[in-house]
Order: sequence, then C-alpha cells, then structure tokens
Amino acid sequence: MVDHMSILVVEDDKYIMSLITMFLKDEGYKTVAAATGKEALALFYANNPDIILLDLGLPDIDGMEVIRQIREKSDAPIIVVSAREEVTDKISALYSGADDYMTKPFYPGELLARIRVAQRKKDSINHSDHLGMFTRDNLRVDYGKGLVFVDGNEVHLTPMEYKLLKLLIANKGKVLTHSYIINQIWGYGETGDANGLRVFMASLRRKIEKDTANPRFILTQVGIGYRFADN
Ligand code: CA
Repeated sequence: MVDHMSILVVEDDKYIMSLITMFLKDEGYKTVAAATGKEALALFYANNPDIILLDLGLPDIDGMEVIRQIREKSDAPIIVVSAREEVTDKISALYSGADDYMTKPFYPGELLARIRVAQRKKDSINHSDHLGMFTRDNLRVDYGKGLVFVDGNEVHLTPMEYKLLKLLIANKGKVLTHSYIINQIWGYGETGDANGLRVFMASLRRKIEKDTANPRFILTQVGIGYRFADN
C-alpha cells in the first residue's frame, strides 16, 4: 500500500520541501514536488496523486484556490501544511475542501500520522460507499453517484459537507457529539473545533433544509451535538 502511494508536496520553501520529501521517501512514499500553485495543479492533473500536502502561502496563486481547483476534479485527501495560525484560515481551508490542517513547525512523526489517517479515511470512505439510495421526504442521497437531491433537484455539496451528511444519515436517530463528528470527519480532535463544525453544519442545512430555523433533518442537541431525525 504505502509503496504504491504517491504524495504531491506543494511548498515554496526549498529547505522545508527537502526535509519533507526526504522524510517521506525514507518512509517509502513516492513524492512529486511543486514549488508554486500552478506547478501544483499541473502535476496534480499529470500524476493523480493519492494525497496532497499543501502549503497555503504560495508565490503565485493562493493555496485556497489550489484546494478549490483540485476539489473540482478529485476528492483525494488534502492536508494543509501552513505557517498561518489564524483559526479563520483553518476554517476556510477546511471549508474549501481540505481534509486536515497542520501548522508549521511540526514533527515528522505528526506529518506521518496525519498521512496515515488521511489514507485510512480515503480507504474507508471508498469501501463504505454502498451502492444505494437514502430517501427521506424531499431529500434523496444517491451513494453510488455521490449526488444529493432536494425536491428532485441536485444540490451541490462540498466533499466535507457530503461526508458530514453521510455520517449523520449512517447514524440516524443517534446523537453524535461535536467531538465524535470532528474526529470522524477530520480524524483529529484538534484540527476541527465546535465553531468550525457549526459553520459546516449551517452551510449544509442551508442546502438541504427548507426552514433552517426549524430543521426537518439535522436536529441540534444543544451543548452536545447533532442527530439526523429518525423518521
Ligand atoms: Ca510558503
């Protein structure tokens, strides 16, 4: 597995780049290196990497834009590796479709752990996509195609919103705590916080609920978490 995995490393700092790529090669990963956003996109299209490690501060195009463009084509895990420490950057990176976020400086072991989580998540999501449909009132989820419909019209969910919805439906009727959801979606409690989750949930509700003030599907358990209505 590991020896078949390729990682696209996007980093404009030559020193950090060589540290990361040397470390990953030692661990048996294939790496492809890009120093700019444009190069990253070109190499992404050419190599179809399994995982993308992405620095947000790039000399040409913004890392967020790189995330958006990759997400139009692929749901390969994107781990943002950034010097930015602002919570809003973290939230907007995750909101744009990144899977995880780590702040420089970091230990190589932490990077490796996150890569392994991303890979496991990719595998488990691929395997849990049972071909089938979920229908409740005017909401329909086509798992085979990965599409969501409201009143028969397709609604566009980001990959993270789709994961959230699938998680809630798979556990319908059960209350899922904030930390459980964050761990299931992002893999690490520390990379997602309850505020970030609220942002995602609000966006998901706007897309699938008729009345977000009185949601039909995703119910809030104040102070605890969320539950998908059991009927
Ligand atoms: Ca940089």
